[in-house]
Amino acid sequence: MFSLMRYSQWQHCCRRALSMLRNQAYVGGEWRNAGSGETFEVLNPFDGSVVGRVPDMSESDVKLAVDTAQRAFTVGEFSNTTAKERSDLLRGWYNLMVKHAEDLAQIMTMESGKSLAESRGEVKYGNSFVEWFAEEARRVNGEVIQSPVRGREVLLLKQPVGVAALITPWNFPHAMITRKAGAALAVGCTCVVKPSEETPLTALALANLAEQAGFPAGVFNVVTTSPKNSAAVGKLLCEDARVRVMSFTGSTAVGKILYRQCASTIKRLSLELGGNAPFVVFESADIDLAVAGAMASKFRNTGQTCVSANRFFVHENVHTEFVDKFVSKINSDIKMGDGSREGITNGPLIKESQLKMVSDLVNDALTKGAKLHCGGKPLPELGPLFYGPTVLTRVTKEMQIYNKEIFGPVAVINKFSSEEEVLREANNTPVGLAGYFYSKDISQVFRVARKLEVGMVGVNEGLISCTEAAFGGIKESGLGREGSHHGIDDFVDVKYVCIGNVAYQS
Ligand code: ADP
Repeated sequence: MFSLMRYSQWQHCCRRALSMLRNQAYVGGEWRNAGSGETFEVLNPFDGSVVGRVPDMSESDVKLAVDTAQRAFTVGEFSNTTAKERSDLLRGWYNLMVKHAEDLAQIMTMESGKSLAESRGEVKYGNSFVEWFAEEARRVNGEVIQSPVRGREVLLLKQPVGVAALITPWNFPHAMITRKAGAALAVGCTCVVKPSEETPLTALALANLAEQAGFPAGVFNVVTTSPKNSAAVGKLLCEDARVRVMSFTGSTAVGKILYRQCASTIKRLSLELGGNAPFVVFESADIDLAVAGAMASKFRNTGQTCVSANRFFVHENVHTEFVDKFVSKINSDIKMGDGSREGITNGPLIKESQLKMVSDLVNDALTKGAKLHCGGKPLPELGPLFYGPTVLTRVTKEMQIYNKEIFGPVAVINKFSSEEEVLREANNTPVGLAGYFYSKDISQVFRVARKLEVGMVGVNEGLISCTEAAFGGIKESGLGREGSHHGIDDFVDVKYVCIGNVAYQS
């Protein structure tokens, strides 16, 4: 519950961050309430206290946001701005994000529960997309092609697709927005962002900075909805023909709904969905390095990332050593608690349904005979949504946890004996986002990197995301790539212009 004492403490600590907080949505360059006047609470997952209240917008509010984004694209001529103008705007936004990095981190910790160290890391990562796309903006060039016919000039132009709808999740409240919006704005698209109901305050703080950076009205809009309205608003964004691209990061289940809904307008679709990352430790691996990578990959954001190691496969000859060292590292390094306190490494899970899902999966495995090495239960003494870092072995295929995306601080460590066997198991899933393996055998490194059915591979590395590289999955993990120079592809149309009957002699 909202506690006055906690509120005053928090107010004292984050006075500057408070000045960045907004309790209205940002549409058409104005701060607005929902037409209905309804609002919803944003809670701190650490203790359930209320950290904000934002408009609960419905379809009619979001339709207005699309109207304004469409006007900014055409009448407002954002689509005709020069690359240099857009680059300057993005650069200005980036500079403000750097200036307010600590405020953004404080806000993120309040609404997501992640530790301040992790929030600071995410702010840096999220900011880097805006810096990157400020640079990329000026290098989005078309092509002049050799014509097969005399007297013809063949051009390929790259043009912004139009209004972009960006629907983002709660686990990276900043970076999932900038990774999409940076690319969209760089090429001249206008945006309607619909952040997660759990983390709208970071999104609104970014809108506040975008306003200060001078983006013209309607170019960058943020609409907020509670779970009551999310599905209807999502449907509207998919089915409104003026929205030309839908970029979504979230669960595979919702991604499939959006895919179906976008068929009605043949909308460009970028989907970054769930993963089920294998983490393989071969016999030749440096075990200490593998343990360090496992810690980073498994426990970042308390296991709530789509690229978190989800299934560990450790060679039978190094299995015991790996498990022992991993458990001892967990015991020494992980400090769970209030993310806003310095020194805390991991916060709680985001919401009750996540806690229940994680608890149910572990309980099912334990009932069916899995061996527990640490954790295995909620930690109510820390707060209502904490779950202890957990390691399980002797997990069998009959247990639900064997092949399910856990999205929590639980490591399942299986044994294998051959490369062929482990590749078969690692690839035995309908999704393919990230995969990791540790090996010192150079041929094995190339072989396994090629054979893993995923969009991203970490070899002797547990944390691989960066703005310069292409982020995305294969199979049911999604469509398209974010970051890197490929990140702009979802937001541009390639137009072929044929100029005929050119006389080369005057
Ligand atoms: P999670 O289960 O991890 O919260 P979701 O896929 O449910 O992930 O949520 C990711 C984003 O999708 C959030 O912004 C959420 O509001 C939004 N969302 C949830 N359901 C729908 C839906 N049916 N249509 C459109 N957006 C949705």
